[in-house]
Amino acid sequence: MKRSIRSEALLFSLCFFFLTTCHSVFASAAELTAEHSDTEKLLALTFDDGPSSSVTPKLLDGLAERGVHATFFLIGNRIEGNEALVTRMESEGHQVGIHTYSHVAITGLTQTQFYRQIGRTRELLTSILGEESFPLRPPYGFVDKNVIQWSNAPIILWSVDPKDWSDHNVQRIASVMINQASPGDIILLHDIFSSTVEATLTAVDELLRQGYYFVTVEELFSAYGILLENGTIYRCAPNTSADQTTFYPRRYEDD
Ligand SMILES: [Zn+2]
Repeated sequence: MKRSIRSEALLFSLCFFFLTTCHSVFASAAELTAEHSDTEKLLALTFDDGPSSSVTPKLLDGLAERGVHATFFLIGNRIEGNEALVTRMESEGHQVGIHTYSHVAITGLTQTQFYRQIGRTRELLTSILGEESFPLRPPYGFVDKNVIQWSNAPIILWSVDPKDWSDHNVQRIASVMINQASPGDIILLHDIFSSTVEATLTAVDELLRQGYYFVTVEELFSAYGILLENGTIYRCAPNTSADQTTFYPRRYEDD
């Protein structure tokens, strides 16, 4: 377990080099549509790698106490046995998405392998929640042309990464969330660490005090008048077509 977390941390670090800040590229809150003034500060918390039978319930409790909604990108092989948690997520207003079946990078896969990771997890979620559209969060944020073509889902990346896996330092993680968040951001977290739960709730309390609202990814884009489309990459709201070619240029062009 320790080793897999460490190797995941390394891949996350590599991935981070491909990221640029969202708001240096895209429109600011001032460009929100008329019905949404710039005083409306929306953020989307996203949690990958769960569900965790020990950690996720504590997070759900804390979010419910605060009336905060989030989006959970689930691992297929962790859903089995945790079906009640998945149902709870949806019944408490959260959005559920796909984060592969066994947490592998989905670039360079055959279509059969891709189906085993994405289609199988989608079927699992459908069997629990019914027919729905489930957005995709590719592990490590790795995307190539086949991922875009085969995803059959909106591809949700992120614009704020507190690297909660790196040191489990509650104060540092909370500070990054508080200092880097701006309206329209998607924040990347993992509901498999107790430290992440503590840091998230600390930051949420401060950001609520600052007038932010926490919504699901779907609600975030909907507030900006954007309907999520299959095979499109999103990493913050508002989103432009520009990031389809500039987000991970090396991966995208090499393919
Ligand atoms: Zn992950």
